[in-house]
Amino acid sequence: MLARQKGVLLPSLREIRTFGEYVTDDLPALARAVWNVPLIDAYSSQECGYIALQCPAASGYHVMSENLRVEVLNTEGQPCAPGETGRVVVTTLHNFAMPLIRYAVGDFAEVGAACECGRGLPRLTRIMGRQRNLIRTPDGRRFWPVFGVYAWIAKVAVSQLRVVQRRTDVLEMHYVRARDLDPEETRVITDHVHRTLGWPFTLDWRRCEFIPAGPTGKFEDVICLLPDDET
Ligand SMILES: [Zn+2]
Repeated sequence: MLARQKGVLLPSLREIRTFGEYVTDDLPALARAVWNVPLIDAYSSQECGYIALQCPAASGYHVMSENLRVEVLNTEGQPCAPGETGRVVVTTLHNFAMPLIRYAVGDFAEVGAACECGRGLPRLTRIMGRQRNLIRTPDGRRFWPVFGVYAWIAKVAVSQLRVVQRRTDVLEMHYVRARDLDPEETRVITDHVHRTLGWPFTLDWRRCEFIPAGPTGKFEDVICLLPDDET
């Protein structure tokens, strides 16, 4: 976003590789639009190494089954079906020094059906980060909000956005911008967020100068601070 606003071009750049943070649906299109390069994401962890890599031919990620077994489990501990989201649990197959058996990495992922590219490796369609990065609705659903964020923040020149949930019915929308959103901008974006989330949260818009990354260097777009047992 910043590169687009400031007109920064990187003509020798061939590709962007990402890891460690959630890749929103519209980020690859933004990379293509601003720098005309593909964006390739990898899902890895410190403990397990590469877990799943982006399919070169279709959407989603292929599990690196040669090196580890990945299970995605629902709240009952049962395997998720395609389209469902659950906890990622990993068993490493070649880590003889410190075997990890059904190790809960702490992330959530959405299971995909067989990939159209023909590879037989299991497929994940979305890697969603930690439980603390899932929004909760008052009716008990938990999900990663997909706003199509870059499309609309570009329209209103917001350079950073973070959603913080401290109450089940309110989302704090922290944003960085030169001036406050005016009532019409707020109305349009609020409508969009309500449609996307499927719940009429009260949105508490808070303009700030800068939104820092967390202590690990990761930038979290969404932080849910509700206690675990609250729905
Ligand atoms: Zn594939």
